[in-house]
Amino acid sequence: MSDAESTDEFEPVQVFPESEEMDLRPGADDCYKCSTCDSECPVAAVDDEFPGPKFQGPEQWRLKRKDDTETDDSVMSCSNCMRCDSACPSGVPLSQMHNTARGSFVENQMDKLSREYIRNRILSNYGTLAWFGSKVPRLANAVMSSSVVQTVNEKVMGITAEREFPEFAEQTFREWWSERDGATVQSDEKRVAYFHGCYSNYNTPEVGKAMVRVFESFGYEVMVPPQKCSGTPMFANGMLPDARRAAETNVAELSAAIEDGADIIASCTSCSLSLRQEYPELFDLEGIEDVSAHTYEALEYLRIHEDLSGALEESEVDPRKFAYHAPCHARNQGLAGQAIELLDGVEGAEAEDVGDSCSGISGTYGWKEEKYDTSMKIGAEMFHHMEEAEPDAGMTECPTCAMQMEHGTGYEIRHPLEVIAEALVE
Ligand code: SF4
Ligand code: SF4
Repeated sequence: MSDAESTDEFEPVQVFPESEEMDLRPGADDCYKCSTCDSECPVAAVDDEFPGPKFQGPEQWRLKRKDDTETDDSVMSCSNCMRCDSACPSGVPLSQMHNTARGSFVENQMDKLSREYIRNRILSNYGTLAWFGSKVPRLANAVMSSSVVQTVNEKVMGITAEREFPEFAEQTFREWWSERDGATVQSDEKRVAYFHGCYSNYNTPEVGKAMVRVFESFGYEVMVPPQKCSGTPMFANGMLPDARRAAETNVAELSAAIEDGADIIASCTSCSLSLRQEYPELFDLEGIEDVSAHTYEALEYLRIHEDLSGALEESEVDPRKFAYHAPCHARNQGLAGQAIELLDGVEGAEAEDVGDSCSGISGTYGWKEEKYDTSMKIGAEMFHHMEEAEPDAGMTECPTCAMQMEHGTGYEIRHPLEVIAEALVE
């Protein structure tokens, strides 16, 4: 047969039915079922009922493509630690699939009057709760630490009574910032916009203050734009409309800061991951790619732009040993070894990595009564390694990992920025 004849006889085959709406989600078909993601999933490791990331991601998408099946409710048992994302050798966007499936489950299948929905909505809007708490911090702290309130929270709302509610600071980071009249360094060349998130603002303003001191010591003008929650707890609970509303404000405000010549820095690794990865994966907003490309974790930014290691090599702190846990969301950004490496050069500071296990709390996950035991089982390996290290204190960048570390071992937990501020500017 000649080439001309074969071309004439070729008839395209209709592979997919023309009427069917196709979901051509990039990467969904790249899964070759190796199960590496399942073996990295901390929830699947301790909960036999949880089917794992491969099922939650590509398999559910294949099922949904074949017919209009409902989303399996097990997607609500994924903690959104995102370890499966970095585990997949084929680049399947697992957490994006999980977040989308969870959003669809909550939107279409969850009873909006159920205790679970109301509890999850409250937990995922922690920033609103904290705003009220911060208006009367002493009263709020007394109320939230009362055993009667904790028992009622558990029985009525399904929020575990096993954990100590985090204390609200008497002065928020933003109140401190206004009181000091904002930045003390002005610069057209070196400018950063601080995304403090909810926790550094309402609960641990000392982390934000340390960040400001460190950046100002390197000659940076720090901006603190208006902002809302990064959305991390909302993604984990499938509250995508809430997350989108927060993202609209954050993207608009951070885009304006970028226009003013700033890059975005965050002290919480879940906040930086959210702005970098989850925002562009889940929302189509003007400027969102730009915000993603300009966002950094605070110490990562200084490592890139300054001789941070050099400065630390000439510094000193009161002698202490820290047991360091790298949050899963720091691992996802390639930051797992950063704090250990930086503190290695500081005289007096010793930091021991307590291994690559997940802390188990994953934001709001470990606060749910029915997930508390799973959360503590996942955290057991980290608790054990922390105790073996015999530190003076624990250390991590993630505020909820810090809660879990303290809860499981009793050690006080510090943020690397606090120790670096002590080394460089105190
Ligand atoms: S690791 Fe990636 S390729 Fe392997 S089963 Fe999981 S999603 Fe599929
Ligand atoms: S995000 Fe974490 S908990 Fe959820 S499926 Fe992936 S590895 Fe498991």
